Amino acid sequence: MSQPLEEALQQTLDEWNRQGLTRRLSPVTASQGITLEWEGQKLINFGSNDYLGLAQHPALREAALRAIREWGTGSTASRLVCGSLHIHHELEEGLAALKGTEAALSFASGYTTALGIIPALVEPGDIVILDRLAHACLLDGARLSRATLRVYRHNDLEDLERLLRWADARRSAAPRTPRPTRILIVTESVFSMDGDRAPLASIVELKERYGAWLMVDEAHATGLFGTRGEGLIGAAGLTERVEIQMGTLGKALGSAGGFIAGSKRLKEWLAQSARSFMFSTAPPPAQAAAAAAAVALLQSPEGAHLRQQLWSHVHRVIASDPGHPLPWPGWMRPLASAILPWLVGDNERALACAQAARRFGLYIPAIRYPAVPRQRARLRITLSAAHRPEDLDRLLSFLHSLGSAPGPDGATPSD
Ligand SMILES: *Cc1c(COP(=O)(O)O)cnc(C)c1O
Repeated sequence: MSQPLEEALQQTLDEWNRQGLTRRLSPVTASQGITLEWEGQKLINFGSNDYLGLAQHPALREAALRAIREWGTGSTASRLVCGSLHIHHELEEGLAALKGTEAALSFASGYTTALGIIPALVEPGDIVILDRLAHACLLDGARLSRATLRVYRHNDLEDLERLLRWADARRSAAPRTPRPTRILIVTESVFSMDGDRAPLASIVELKERYGAWLMVDEAHATGLFGTRGEGLIGAAGLTERVEIQMGTLGKALGSAGGFIAGSKRLKEWLAQSARSFMFSTAPPPAQAAAAAAAVALLQSPEGAHLRQQLWSHVHRVIASDPGHPLPWPGWMRPLASAILPWLVGDNERALACAQAARRFGLYIPAIRYPAVPRQRARLRITLSAAHRPEDLDRLLSFLHSLGSAPGPDGATPSD
């Protein structure tokens, strides 16, 4: 007889609790601009991915309300049945224009985008090569495909090339019919928990040399980089050389959803083979309409202004007070991204630091395993164009208090 469900769950929950790994779901009771109300406290939010403050922008609110008035609240069916509303097509045209690709295809979330597209492109016998720090949805999509999975050391081109050499040799040694073995490299352009960037140009060169395909997740770059907010691939002039661009609509774009951008043929293929697209109700019209409004806003003078605002905030925090050097890892060059990880190592200390932030009136999430590797727990600070100078003042005084105070184990917070 198996252990009763409740008992089995409690046993594991107790174990996680001992390791400082349990999470609480506490409701945010109000959210106004950059502040939120949480567990009875009003806090300045340094934890969201709303990098440009668009989630509360009047243009997005208005677009969503208009869509509800015009279309109602639900899309009523899969895109392949009768849920492919005009607004979804308009959003996809906007995304393709933003990314400079022939086409784009939108999904209900970024997570389901990855889960749908990787198994639509590779299958058992093919090979997926993944950066070690790639997002959980990319790993899960690769696993779901049942292709052979290999992981390279984070941003390590030599290790990537070693795996490409191996994959190429395997492809030549055992030719498959009716088609050759596919090799798919998957990376993010800005890494979600470390805030550093992938060496995209070098990865593109490698994948071309070894005849592989490249998929790049721009979840934390779309809207932020490039003169129009097109992301790092576009900004680096690599659009024509990256087969599959992925992004989310729930971060800088202030709505929800995910998408791929690429060729018309890629879109045509995915629309009838990505199972998370085919077998799921189309995103609600309000979600698509808000995202479409965000795509337009990104490319307007206001979008450029918001990006400028964001980068001046990032610059200010990184360059602050040379007397107390902030412990950003060595690779954390100014303006790498809007994500600033403050590594503290163990879970308990990360939770204690997040608590301390609340005493400063700041919401900063403690990020622990499995979102990051064990012993790499951290505060993940995200900056937004919507922060005010006084919010940054408060963040900096908190960081300086952390930087000068020894941790519970006597260590200073550093990588
Ligand atoms: C957030 C995130 C996703 C998932 O996107 P959602 O729209 O939130 O489901 C995918 N990839 C990366 C790198 C992310 O940070």
